[in-house]
Amino acid sequence: MRLTVVGCSGSAPGAASPASCYLVEADDADGRTWRVALDLGSGALGPLQRYADPRLLDAILISHSHADHCADLAVMDVYLKYHPDGEASVPVHGPFGLGGRIAELRGVAETTAALPVTAWQPGAPVTVGPLTVTCAAVAHPVPAYAMRLTGPSESGGEATLVYSGDTDVCDGLAELAWGADLFLCEASFLEEEDGPRGLHLTGARAGAVAQEASVGRLLLTHVPPWTDPNAIVAEAAEQFTGPLQAAHPGLRRSL
Ligand SMILES: [Zn+2]
Ligand SMILES: [Zn+2]
Repeated sequence: MRLTVVGCSGSAPGAASPASCYLVEADDADGRTWRVALDLGSGALGPLQRYADPRLLDAILISHSHADHCADLAVMDVYLKYHPDGEASVPVHGPFGLGGRIAELRGVAETTAALPVTAWQPGAPVTVGPLTVTCAAVAHPVPAYAMRLTGPSESGGEATLVYSGDTDVCDGLAELAWGADLFLCEASFLEEEDGPRGLHLTGARAGAVAQEASVGRLLLTHVPPWTDPNAIVAEAAEQFTGPLQAAHPGLRRSL
């Protein structure tokens, strides 16, 4: 399984990165490569094309309906419908109501066949080629899901990637992340007294969840354009004893 960071800017695109989008690739036993995008936030469809043909994605997995995670589904719909090589379709998994959200963003009455949406159901795994995806509801002001992807490891055997989506600390997150080889976890805030709760993790809280879940490696993401990623990493490093770093566009990891 291979992860490429397409966009990792939190809450809004930044000068150096579009909003959330991660490409996961996995090869099946026949050597066919399967490609899945985790989120398709503002500005991500452009740089995604450096790494994969959007028309050939096997699925798009959306954590929640905030624009920095799903806005480019509207332009993806146009891309798939009007590409000169012919119409294409990519299945989408996301929160209930996401189909209507795409139509709203696109300014059309109904969603097209290009992006058929299936609602997440915690406890009902989704299979995409050699990848199995389970989700868990997490703590955010709108329905939001973290995802656990299990698939073939590059070194043989099985590998697990967990993506937090947007969340504050909650039981479901540490449980879902348990033992993951790579934990792609949001860290939007720095610790402060009376800081907001129920929205996002801080660097310290992300580090604590990673430690509790005994993950192999922590990749911190969703740092807003106005926050120093080094400060987020420093907070997390006080809580998590394993290897960690901040995500940046173009970062690739094999697991
Ligand atoms: Zn966000
Ligand atoms: Zn959000």
